[in-house]
Amino acid sequence: MNWETVIGLEVHAELSTKSKIFCSCAVSFGDDSNTRCCPVCLGLPGTMPNLNQEVLRFAVKACLALGCQIRRRIAFDRKNYFYPDLPKSYQITQHRYPIGFNGMFQLPNGKEIRIEELHMEEDAGKLLHMQEGTICDDNRCGVPLLEIVTCPDFRDADEVVTFLASLQRILQYLGISDGKMQEGSLRADVNISVHKLDERLGQRVEMKNLSSFRAIKEAIQYEYFRQTEVLESGKMVAAETRGWNEDKKETYSLRNKEKVQDYRYFPEPDIPEIIIEENWVKEIQECLPELPAHKMKRYMDMYRLTDNEANILTADRSVSAFFEELIACGITPKLAAKWILREVLAYLNEHNAAYNDLSLSAKSFSDLIFLTEAKKINRQTAKEIFSLLCKKDFDVPSYVKTHSLWLENNDAENSKVVSHIISIHQKAVLDFCTGKEKVLGFLVGQCMKELKGRGNPEVIKEILINYLKNEMGK
Ligand code: ADP
Ligand code: MG
Ligand code: ZN
Repeated sequence: MNWETVIGLEVHAELSTKSKIFCSCAVSFGDDSNTRCCPVCLGLPGTMPNLNQEVLRFAVKACLALGCQIRRRIAFDRKNYFYPDLPKSYQITQHRYPIGFNGMFQLPNGKEIRIEELHMEEDAGKLLHMQEGTICDDNRCGVPLLEIVTCPDFRDADEVVTFLASLQRILQYLGISDGKMQEGSLRADVNISVHKLDERLGQRVEMKNLSSFRAIKEAIQYEYFRQTEVLESGKMVAAETRGWNEDKKETYSLRNKEKVQDYRYFPEPDIPEIIIEENWVKEIQECLPELPAHKMKRYMDMYRLTDNEANILTADRSVSAFFEELIACGITPKLAAKWILREVLAYLNEHNAAYNDLSLSAKSFSDLIFLTEAKKINRQTAKEIFSLLCKKDFDVPSYVKTHSLWLENNDAENSKVVSHIISIHQKAVLDFCTGKEKVLGFLVGQCMKELKGRGNPEVIKEILINYLKNEMGK
């Protein structure tokens, strides 16, 4: 049957401000429980919240990057509910007058996803379930969040994941959130319904606690089958909030979907309305960095990089800055891309590290590229120097000099070594003459050993082949 999936997202991004949204407690991850809270973020009687200006600035940046209109006069509201991780029993959020609305986000395939609204709010605490019992950790209370609500414009899981991955990059480029899903700094509630193409939208189900792209994909797939089955058997899909069971790979009912009136929203009495000045927005706009989609297109147009190269190089803003520094050092864009992909990113993968952990400078890396490409040092030497540079930066040409790593392109010496090696490995020569060409690698290795790594394997190989042909002719 032609059931269509319809998905809308509510994304929460934790902002990486120094302090919380309404008090001066530090925003941090992984501290001891309940060491980062105060009477304000715990909502003790008599305390007053005070909006952190940086949160407002970050929200404006996000609005600009996501094409949202910015409301000139904004306010906060209280959303009331009881839960053990919420000591105040209400959350300060923006309900009536969210800062951003009517945004638009273009997926790489050109499809547009409308952003319904974008607002600021405070996070709740965390419940830590231990063997002895459950601990309420209030460190996260009052951590600033942006909530981004999309219209129900997604039609499959791939679109959702593409959107979230792009959003992650944008937040990181803007420097407003680290966007790490595994640490919970980016969380998505996935609303999903199914319907027949020519009928109106179906009843949506909200899925919570999806903490990886894989879980999101699997949960969407599961819900599609579950909901179509319900409808095909003539029943109705219930309006509920469902969770994801990672072990069983299925969703389960958490509760009936709460309605807006359940929250008894009312205007936050302790925070006055805020007027957002146009000039201030302009200032922020002018300081906005180049965004990933734009940068990617520029790399393809200007530097003739492939889709894949541009995509990988722009994934991390500091990697793309490194790429551009290499170009400024005189490396061609193609070569810079090739070396970053082949060496730097491979190294990061292998060591499970981030680019910012490396001490490698653009100057040293470009020296290394120059020397290798000009065949002044061999690839093995380059690899070794590269992994040293990742740990501690140094001057490459002087290192090569003091360690005598210059390639010997001295034909007389090369020939001497080759003839010596051939004379002591007659068995290998015989093997070669009877068609076992694999021994060539062995002989090259022996020559390289004799030259203590200063040989150029390609040159040696050529000389060897000439010698061996001579031998065969005998
Ligand atoms: P609530 O706060 O009750 O979750 P919101 O209006 O804030 O409601 O959120 C609605 C979310 O559900 C949005 O992301 C929207 O795109 C999505 N949504 C609305 N209708 C549907 C539907 N029929 N199918 C799937 N998603 C939907
Ligand atoms: Mg909601
Ligand atoms: Zn506090």
